[in-house]
Amino acid sequence: MEVAKTTESVRALVKTARGQGKRIGFVPTMGALHIGHVSLIEAAKQHANFVVVSIFVNPTQFGVGEDFEKYPRPIEHDLEICREQGVDLVFAPTPAEMYPGENFTWVTVEKLTEPLCGQFRPGHFRGVATVCAKLFNIVQPDAAFFGQKDAQQAVVIKRMVADLNMPLEIVVCPTVREPDGLAMSSRNQYLSPSRRKDAAYIYKSLQKCRQMIDAGITDTGKIIAEMRKILSQVPAIKIEYVSIVDAETLQSVDRIAGKVLAAVAVRLGPARLIDNILMDAKKK
Ligand code: AMP
Repeated sequence: MEVAKTTESVRALVKTARGQGKRIGFVPTMGALHIGHVSLIEAAKQHANFVVVSIFVNPTQFGVGEDFEKYPRPIEHDLEICREQGVDLVFAPTPAEMYPGENFTWVTVEKLTEPLCGQFRPGHFRGVATVCAKLFNIVQPDAAFFGQKDAQQAVVIKRMVADLNMPLEIVVCPTVREPDGLAMSSRNQYLSPSRRKDAAYIYKSLQKCRQMIDAGITDTGKIIAEMRKILSQVPAIKIEYVSIVDAETLQSVDRIAGKVLAAVAVRLGPARLIDNILMDAKKK
């Protein structure tokens, strides 16, 4: 496994792989790798025969007062996981390598970045879209792999790639969960044992949503009220949003029809946690 810290060395290594006729699969991450990330690496290995993982805690997607400084950076552990998974190349740039001076050029995806997390993290998706555009330009993959866990991010990146005619495929992989349903996340490390138990209520609320839709309930107001009831059983949970939106436009829907995304964001102790489920009401 190669570990590259510069754009120049990534380009040279990817060029060599391409010269050997290889298909390039790319998994962008912020590190602190867990089984969710591993599932993306596995998917990349199925689609491609040269797998690149980037590990970069991107400063431009963190707002003031967010956890940029304290975000975990266990680089040796991450490299070990990548080695075990048979990753071909890890790109682990410094912030100065990615942003050598003041950045004047930003990618702004409109509309899709306004609802859900967009309301609570101004500038976040501009940072995400910009860093993904930069990473795609550096790595030039045939396909890039994202998790359904960050549903809005996946929708935004897909749209950026389509609108800017970027020559790669975006593959969205299912959310990997802990046995109690909590979506795996690098930020789960922030939770104390008792907050960690509380966190299971996030998925409980999403399961309630699934049950109600399966039972034929279509009034989203009713469903959201029940989801909020479950979350409010835990005093430590501070709800940011509980939303049911069209899975493509991310606009709120009053009635369940077609593909919908039920999405939750909460603050729990020192952590901000998000989760979601996708449902196709027609397919039940
Ligand atoms: P992050 O390192 O948190 O920026 O995540 C890197 C990629 O891993 C993103 O595409 C995430 O959506 C994805 N990811 C994070 N957690 C999970 C999970 N539990 N299951 C599947 N994918 C995930």
